[in-house]
Amino acid sequence: MRPFFLVSLCLLLLSAILFAPPTASAYRTERVVLVVIDGLRATEAFEERPWDFIPMMWDSLTPRGTLYPGIYNLGATWTTPAHAQMCSGQREFQPNCGEVGKYTRPQYPTIFEYYNASAGPENYDTFIVTNKWNLRTLTHSLNPAYGAPDSAFMVKVEESDLDVFTAAAEIMTVYEPHLLLIHFGDVDFVGHTGPWDSYLSSISTADTLVYRVWRQLIQRPGSPYNNRTTMIVTTDHGRHGDAYGGLLRTNSTYKYVPGYREHGCLCPGCQHLFLLALGPDTPQGAVCDRRVHQIDICPTIARLFDLSAPYSDGTVLWEMLGQEQPPPSLSREAPQLAVRGGVLHKAWREKGPSTGGRGAIYYSWRTLGSSWSTPTRISSFVDSTTASTEAFFPSLSVDDSNVDIAWSSLGFHDGSGGWQVWHRRSTDAGESWDRAERLVCFSETARDTLFQRSMPNRPCITTRGERVAVFYARIRFGVGYRISAHGGSEWPDDPPLQVLPGEEVRDCAHRVKVAQTPGGPPRLHLVWNDIRAKCYNLYYQHTAGNGMTWLDSDVQLTDYGDDTHVVDMAIAPDDTVLHVIAADNRELGGGEVTWHPVSSSHLQGERPGAIDPALVVAGTDTLYAAWADHKDGNFEIYTSRSLNGGRTWSTPRRQSETPGFSLQPQLAWDRANRRLYLIYQDNTEGSWELSDVYDITYEDE
Ligand SMILES: [Zn+2]
Ligand SMILES: [Zn+2]
Repeated sequence: MRPFFLVSLCLLLLSAILFAPPTASAYRTERVVLVVIDGLRATEAFEERPWDFIPMMWDSLTPRGTLYPGIYNLGATWTTPAHAQMCSGQREFQPNCGEVGKYTRPQYPTIFEYYNASAGPENYDTFIVTNKWNLRTLTHSLNPAYGAPDSAFMVKVEESDLDVFTAAAEIMTVYEPHLLLIHFGDVDFVGHTGPWDSYLSSISTADTLVYRVWRQLIQRPGSPYNNRTTMIVTTDHGRHGDAYGGLLRTNSTYKYVPGYREHGCLCPGCQHLFLLALGPDTPQGAVCDRRVHQIDICPTIARLFDLSAPYSDGTVLWEMLGQEQPPPSLSREAPQLAVRGGVLHKAWREKGPSTGGRGAIYYSWRTLGSSWSTPTRISSFVDSTTASTEAFFPSLSVDDSNVDIAWSSLGFHDGSGGWQVWHRRSTDAGESWDRAERLVCFSETARDTLFQRSMPNRPCITTRGERVAVFYARIRFGVGYRISAHGGSEWPDDPPLQVLPGEEVRDCAHRVKVAQTPGGPPRLHLVWNDIRAKCYNLYYQHTAGNGMTWLDSDVQLTDYGDDTHVVDMAIAPDDTVLHVIAADNRELGGGEVTWHPVSSSHLQGERPGAIDPALVVAGTDTLYAAWADHKDGNFEIYTSRSLNGGRTWSTPRRQSETPGFSLQPQLAWDRANRRLYLIYQDNTEGSWELSDVYDITYEDE
């Protein structure tokens, strides 16, 4: 056996530690082994008879477990983000991390962190074993509530899937982890390099190794895994379908077209996965035909361990737990808040029985002292084929009686597939709404281009009179945008691959914020994160005048070192100044930061950290900031004020006090009445719910 390369910690140091499960659970399962065969296309797995390529799994394992042939990765179909998605239960807009170069951690906590945080430091008990560098950042996210203290141990072997198996056998014998991810990377590696016969033989090897994991490692008599372990076998992504430049097949013979062995797009071949589960709680010989998602894996494992996974957006795979699927529970999140002339406007994302458990965008308003209007569903689609569409990331802008909302949607390929960006306007202060317009969509005609990989997401909208500007982040090609000069009734035909002038094609823009100055000549300000070279930095652009004349080149606002990842920022324009606030959660503290600190108290406590920044301008040189702070050992909302244009800030004021996480604060400043309002989301009741809108006006206003 080749020597282990240990990323997190030397295994020998751990040998004295005794492991125990974190809590008693309703299930017989005590341990979970998640096995991933990287890049095994469904057509060579469970999609087509006679399952020639996976005889061991098909003949010996499927009759003993529950099969999900209709599981999909609708997010990024590369190894790094796909593993983050299955382990965090969230869509990750993350570039692939290879041997060298980009190094970005999952934005959302992983199942390893949920487990370890619950088990406590003396019981850390999660391992990843892999032969691919792409998983190097999967050990933990940068979330202050979890993160590095709850990291999984990673064992990276240098060579083949057989070495991965051998390492897994040793880990399971010596350390008996309760949660283990075994990652077989060879099928993807050979899938890229070919030829076809080698791809098939690597599938055959992985098929045999999966069987051996079950028979020899899990079902070994006397092993703590025997009869008390759930094994989940899946793939992270497929490969291009035949009609999308993938492996070409003629009758029963197969051949490669050079250069088309890849994956990473939104075609059915890339998105379609498989999942087979076996274990003491899993029905045998069952097939679940329901369409399910890669992001469902994290909450299902969390359920087996009786853990809460608050950031997960997936749904438990109840069938493999032998249980009826309960009706979808209600959750509301991602609040947006604005106030004009004493009228409050809010938008949010909601999932529940009335939305079929899928995310939809809602809107409501109220005047001061009255109650909220009946919520209007903004993201309603008339196209029946889009029944599977989810909506995300509402962005709200209010200007006089115009209320504008932009959002993202995601659908299946055979519906209205891929990632899209939408806009809808009300011209009567939210009473009635124009038709929703799709600004960016997956295009069949563009299926042979890289466009479909770009995943336009997290739109940010700003309006002033009839000018509506919607900017969005893309996992490829940096920032994209659409601008209407006619209130959103007309959108100029933009080229499908629009990037900012002067901007080269780049890998990954993560967040984008756009704002217009409220008075004076029209001016559009833009701040975004993107990854050039190895690290994320913030960049700035603006347009002056009525046209779209951009600065000749982007202005780089931060100069962080390698291996850094800025997650979020907020911006607010004053008449002559643009203010930017950023959550600086650099893992390694590289680079130099000369910004004015808004909060330093967030650096106190056992697991410190501030995220989800919000910012408003309340008159010349007066600013209010809000954020979620973990210094109390739980996320609470804090606010602070600056009276000198952001140079110094008041002592942070705690605005929430709940047992759950309070996150995503939004501020709104009522210019006419000089009142400050706050909304946030909280999961004290188990699922996300919006807070009330609080008047938090500082007394001396
Ligand atoms: Zn690959
Ligand atoms: Zn594809």
